[in-house]
This record gives sequence, C-alpha cells and structure tokens, in this order.
Amino acid sequence: MPNKNNLMSLPTNFWAERDFFDGRAARSFVVVLRTTGCRWRRCTMCGYWQESGTPQPPEALVKQFEFAIHKLKGRCAESPEILKIYTSGSFFDDDELPSAVRLEILKKAAELGVQKVVVESRPEFITPERVGECVERFAGLEVAIGLETSDDFVREKFINKGFSFKDFLRAAKVVKSEEACLRTYLLMKPPFLTEHAALEDVVRSARAVTFSDVLSLNLCNVQRNTFLEKLWWERHYRPPWLWSAVEALKRIKEFYEGVLISDPVGAGSQRGAHNCGRCDKKVAAAIRRFSVTQDLNVFAEMTCDCVEQWLKILELEEFVFGVITDHD
Ligand code: SF4
Ligand SMILES: [Zn+2]
Repeated sequence: MPNKNNLMSLPTNFWAERDFFDGRAARSFVVVLRTTGCRWRRCTMCGYWQESGTPQPPEALVKQFEFAIHKLKGRCAESPEILKIYTSGSFFDDDELPSAVRLEILKKAAELGVQKVVVESRPEFITPERVGECVERFAGLEVAIGLETSDDFVREKFINKGFSFKDFLRAAKVVKSEEACLRTYLLMKPPFLTEHAALEDVVRSARAVTFSDVLSLNLCNVQRNTFLEKLWWERHYRPPWLWSAVEALKRIKEFYEGVLISDPVGAGSQRGAHNCGRCDKKVAAAIRRFSVTQDLNVFAEMTCDCVEQWLKILELEEFVFGVITDHD
C-alpha cells in the first residue's frame, strides 16, 4: 500500500480518449501532473486546488509524466497522436513546472511520436519567452486558456476568474505569434445566470473569440468544496440542460470555422449537465460524438418529452429566478 508521501509523487490522473484531429477521431493520452496547483484557486466553480500536492523536485515531476505514459502504453495498443499535459493549474507557471521540466516533458512527447501537445495556462503566465522555447522544442503545441466568457462582469463577479478579456487577448496574441495553436474554454452556465442568459452568453462569447483554433464548451458541473456547491445545496444553482449545450453547439457551428468540442463531464448526474433523466445518456453520447466528428447530424431527430419543459424554462425562468431547481 503506497503511503501518503508516495501518493503525492504520483500523477493526479491519466487516461486515454479520442479527439477530433486531422479530420477524424484520433487517439489521445491525457496526463494530469500533481504540481503545487493553481496559484489563483479562487474561481467559484473550481475544486482543482484539492488535487495539488507539495512542491516536488524537477526530476520527480518528470517521473510522474513517465509513470503515466508507461501505464497508458500498457493499457492502450494504439499509439497516441495527441498528448494533453494538464496540471490542475498552469503549465507556464514556473512555480508549478520550471522551464527545464516543461522542456524535458516536451522532448519526451516528441519521442513518443505525438503530433499535438495540449497544455493549459492562465494568461498571466503566458509570455513570448515561455511559449517560444516550448514551440522550439515541440512544434505542434496548443495552448488552452480558460476564458469562460467574453463578458468581464460575469467573469469577474460570478466566476471570480481574476483576469479580464483584455488580459486574455494579450495572451492569445502571444500564443498565435509564437505559432502555437489556441484553444479557448468557454463555461456553459456560470452561477447566477438563468438558462437563457447562459445560452446567450456562451454564443456571444464564441463570437468574440472566433480566432481560436479550437473552442471547447465546458458544461459547468458542481465540484465538491466549492462556492458553487454551496449555491447548489441552497437551491440557487442548477447545472445546464444538455439541450442548452446542443443548442449552443448548433448556433456556434453556424459562424465558427474552427474545431468545436464539448465533453459533458458528469452528464446525467445532478451535479453535471442534465435533462430529465430519461434522455441524458443519449444526448451526452451525441455531444461526445459531435466533438469527434464535427457533424451536426448526430443531433438530427434527437428529442424527448422534456424538450417542452426546457423551452418553458428558457422562456419563463427570468421571472422566477432562484425557484426552479430539481435536486431533492
Ligand atoms: S484558474 Fe483554473 S485552475 Fe485556477 S481556480 Fe480558476 S478554474 Fe481553477
Ligand atoms: Zn428528456
């Protein structure tokens, strides 16, 4: 049985999945490294700080990566084309991953033969030097930024993200000018927005960031020990309907030419995006299918009795906000 110190030196998580790449569903490996975690850790919906660990020497961080890749290769016959290296924080924060560790991990990614590496970072850690040296080491770098919404008021007051749209634009420009790809995360249904306002917010936000190479629609879920969880227990928050996600994907696809994806984490549960309970699995599967095919036909003729209820909520919730919840 590993003791606590050993556990802290293991990666937080790792798994294999599929992503849309080069016109098809490609194999990807996801590795979540255990670092000191996000330095901000104040976003209302985020519980990632619970996955952070004690500071580790550089070689231990590289070992975590090697451990995860070794296990994934054992589990998966197919070689990965995409590698996602997450830290439950920022890849470009020197306190989480020093530059030497970033470069060593990217060198190992190149040896693995992947075409694309996806990393995540808050804007304040994104500098031409840090991104530039990484692109030099690995040309197919994609940098994801959790913008969440283009609306500064919603991001500041409801999400408490701690950076502005202008900060995001500066970082996005750095990513592009260093010839990395840009992935933008948008949050579907931050707290305090009605279902209708959340739908409009995410579509409007997508319009503001069409220069992104990949847009990821993240359906808000209720993580433990967060401010959002408190709101949820007090019946002031319901995660988004899956129908809202489908509607957002359809509307964004009309004007956005990049790759549009959404992974409905926890879909069908009371803490995740959900519909009526009967159609959740089917609709979540279609959203996943869309993400790896980009084909809106996966939603064709998809319906359920609860569509009427969802439409009524879109229409009427503005007048009864704070009353409609469904977790008993
Ligand atoms: S910046 Fe990201 S990791 Fe940090 S608290 Fe916010 S959502 Fe969580
Ligand atoms: Zn239904």
